[in-house]
Amino acid sequence: MNTTILSKDKDPMGSAIQDYFNHGKAGKLRVLSSQFDEDEIPAKTLFRNMSQMPRLEKEALRLATGRILDVGGGSGCHSLALQEMEKEVCAIDISPRSVEVMKQRGVKDARLQNLFDPSFTDTFDTILLLMNGSGIIGKLSNMPVFFMKMKQLLRPGGTVLLDSSDLKYLFEDEDGSFLIDLAGDYYGEIDFQMIYKGVEGDSFDWLYIDFQTLSLYAAEYGFKAELIKEGEHYNYLAKLTLN
Ligand code: SAH
Repeated sequence: MNTTILSKDKDPMGSAIQDYFNHGKAGKLRVLSSQFDEDEIPAKTLFRNMSQMPRLEKEALRLATGRILDVGGGSGCHSLALQEMEKEVCAIDISPRSVEVMKQRGVKDARLQNLFDPSFTDTFDTILLLMNGSGIIGKLSNMPVFFMKMKQLLRPGGTVLLDSSDLKYLFEDEDGSFLIDLAGDYYGEIDFQMIYKGVEGDSFDWLYIDFQTLSLYAAEYGFKAELIKEGEHYNYLAKLTLN
């Protein structure tokens, strides 16, 4: 599990966020993967406001109570919406440029911090992981570390709210059968690399997880997983609470 922060010259998403914040527009934020065709994230979507957010995210913001941790805050879109709702939020991100923008946009408590850094020992009532928030877990083999960290950061009665997608649909054949190699790696384990203008980030692991698999792991580590809402595209919002 990676516990470091990004260096400024290897922070493509942060560079795009900074450009969009400073100039109202940004170039192409390219997303490469060994498993998929090249894709692109429009910087504008990273600046979505409450009315532009998908239903699942709005629901997560509504359910968040007490002291909230926004993990991987990005441009600060969720933290700013929570502050507008008069909620108390701390945003963390490993992207130095994103944290600068969050501060400039008025996120009151924005920190350059890796979730998995052992020195991060604050406590929270709600932990939010949004925009395929399970991605930060990286691989299924990191589940023990993830749940241990959630246990450490959660106050009694606290909850984790995260969204994810079941990527099974990508492996569906025209006749409806699935082409998943059950002996291989879990089909939601994806590698990505981002590139923005001349800035090339390192490749990183990003986990998409179906709700059933998430529930099984949650149970193993003493959590209960609840399906709060399903989205339009095999995506869902889940709530994890300590048993
Ligand atoms: N939540 C934002 C951004 C999502 S992109 C939104 O919905 O728009 C994921 C973010 O998580 C990126 O900004 C990335 O830098 C950050 N991130 C990735 N791994 C992290 C980790 N281990 N700890 C904290 N932040 C992390």
